[in-house]
Amino acid sequence: MILHEFHCTQCGRQFEEMVSTGEETVRCPACDSEEVKRLLCAVKRTGGNADPDALGSACAPSGGFS
Ligand SMILES: [Zn+2]
Repeated sequence: MILHEFHCTQCGRQFEEMVSTGEETVRCPACDSEEVKRLLCAVKRTGGNADPDALGSACAPSGGFS
């Protein structure tokens, strides 16, 4: 289980949630919205490789990192 930090795009609340795989649906505790962004995740270093997605965001919005 890894503690992730999320930001709700609906109401702006930030909250932490324990998730095991990152594939689970996370809901905002305040407004029950599924429209949340993950702020922190397992660190993935690109080592200088040009990866636009990795550079633009440390976390894949769809939880593509495994
Ligand atoms: Zn919310």
